[in-house]
Amino acid sequence: MSVADPKHPGPAPRSSPLPNQEASFTLHGMGVSGGVAIGYAHLVSAAQLEVAHYEVPAGEIDAEISRFEHAIEQVRGELVGLRASVPASAPAEMTAFLDVHLMILDDANLSQVPKTLIRERQANAEWALVQQLDMLTAQFDAIEDAYLRERKHDIVQVVERVLKAMLGTGHVPDAPSHEENVIVVAHDLSPADMILFKEHEFAGFVTDLGGVTSHTAIVARSLDIPAIVGLHRARSLVREGELLIVDGREGVLIVNPGTQVLAEYQLRQSQLEIEKKKLRRLRTTPSATLDGVHVELHANIELPQDVEEVREAGAAGVGLFRSEFLFLNRNDLPGEDEQFESYRQVVDTMKGLPVTIRTLDLGADKTVNGAENAGPNPALGLRAIRFCLAEPQMFQTQLRAILRASAFGRTRLLIPMLAHSHEINNALAAIAQAKASLERDNIPFDRGIAVGGMVEVPGAALALGYFVKRLDFLSIGTNDLIQYTLAIDRTDDTVSHLYDPLHPAVLHLISHTIRTATRAGIPVAVCGEMAGDLAATRLLLGFGLREFSMHPAQLLPIKQQVLRTNIPDVEVIAKKILRTDDPDKRQALLDKLNS
Ligand code: PEP
Ligand code: MG
Repeated sequence: MSVADPKHPGPAPRSSPLPNQEASFTLHGMGVSGGVAIGYAHLVSAAQLEVAHYEVPAGEIDAEISRFEHAIEQVRGELVGLRASVPASAPAEMTAFLDVHLMILDDANLSQVPKTLIRERQANAEWALVQQLDMLTAQFDAIEDAYLRERKHDIVQVVERVLKAMLGTGHVPDAPSHEENVIVVAHDLSPADMILFKEHEFAGFVTDLGGVTSHTAIVARSLDIPAIVGLHRARSLVREGELLIVDGREGVLIVNPGTQVLAEYQLRQSQLEIEKKKLRRLRTTPSATLDGVHVELHANIELPQDVEEVREAGAAGVGLFRSEFLFLNRNDLPGEDEQFESYRQVVDTMKGLPVTIRTLDLGADKTVNGAENAGPNPALGLRAIRFCLAEPQMFQTQLRAILRASAFGRTRLLIPMLAHSHEINNALAAIAQAKASLERDNIPFDRGIAVGGMVEVPGAALALGYFVKRLDFLSIGTNDLIQYTLAIDRTDDTVSHLYDPLHPAVLHLISHTIRTATRAGIPVAVCGEMAGDLAATRLLLGFGLREFSMHPAQLLPIKQQVLRTNIPDVEVIAKKILRTDDPDKRQALLDKLNS
């Protein structure tokens, strides 16, 4: 959530960056997208507790209180609306938790006490509310009963809603003018926050938390602007308006650079721009290796409007449409018609090229408003297909919408996070049910629509027999496959140094999946971040991969690598890499492969 400090409304517009006299320092994190950004810091808060504190003049106290009361009313309306939109078939806990939130909202501790604080302390409403929250959470922390202690999170969620309502614009900061000169500095940003930034033209992003394959980083990458995560202390050390250089490739943030450093990075920035322009010439070049093997390069999207960049990059299709992003940042669920229009827009724009729509992958770090309670370990919880099978009505709505879009162009259905044969059976049965209902309603759809499964759970990769029997294609989600194979939460920057796409176990699972699908005669793609990683392209080609799906911005560099690769050469080295246990030998082979 963004809480822009009203006393510091963002950097003043300046036409070209000037070094200032403040001490220069450097912070190191993990680069999530390449390039260099130079601009002025704009501090944004993601945490509910980081709010501005300022004095409200005596004559404006009543207005401040009514601003607070309006926010409470707005949230009450949101919660009542959400409660009414819960399908009858939804689990009872869903309405119960909304009832609890309504009760919390109406409790005098939240709805009245802050008003006294505003008046007595002559302080702004956000600050008063957070003071009260701090007091309440401290009381909850002292409770012995674990269940009751956990209710603290419900209070935090309600307070977050009220803070959002007071901000009016939700998560987006007051956009400073001249956004192209602005670098957003945040402690943490959720994928839902990031998606809102798509509407802006900021020069770069840096955050203290987050892993390189978290969905926040993925959306940052899709914006194709330099970004760094895992900087730990940027939010507390950087001041509003300071000049910053973001080196998104090396993961380096330079604060208040000196004249010489600034000049070097300006030069680097223009060199990168020239390289990018040159790559555009490859847009229409057929994607094939030196020895003439065709390689399909598809693109990943989060929202329908991303499809324009897919066309510009010359992609052969949409290999992954993360449909759950349509469900974020709103207080209701998109209905069948609304979803259908979004899917059809993408299918139409792709003009007959394949569009792979993944069914909802909600849960873990992507949650719908009002359903933040994702269990004790969200990445291992009720996520993706598990969540959809638990919410059959919601799943049917989406399946009908996707099937309806399939009448307008080549569409494929992709099911995330499958692990069990019964999940495959149940997902296919749900698709059959959606088809039958469309038949009954006389609504056209592609009866032969291909249905694929994501391989992103190690258990699935090791037991693919049933997958290749029942499904039409596979897509390897390396982001989750790595997370689950190496037991590393992909959103946790404290373990992100252990996130290793080239770990032998990961490579075995990937090559085994490609081999099994190829033998069974069904297409297989990689759609995780590894597909857009130049360091992995030749290795994946050597394993036999012929379909990659990545962010549009990564497509042309990957195509260039494909054009420079000879399959027989890389096959030999890829085999050797799989056979060796020795990390040094493996690294030497990888260097040779990419030289
Ligand atoms: C993956 O896990 O690799 C994937 C493509 O899905 P997501 O990143 O959306 O989890
Ligand atoms: Mg995944």
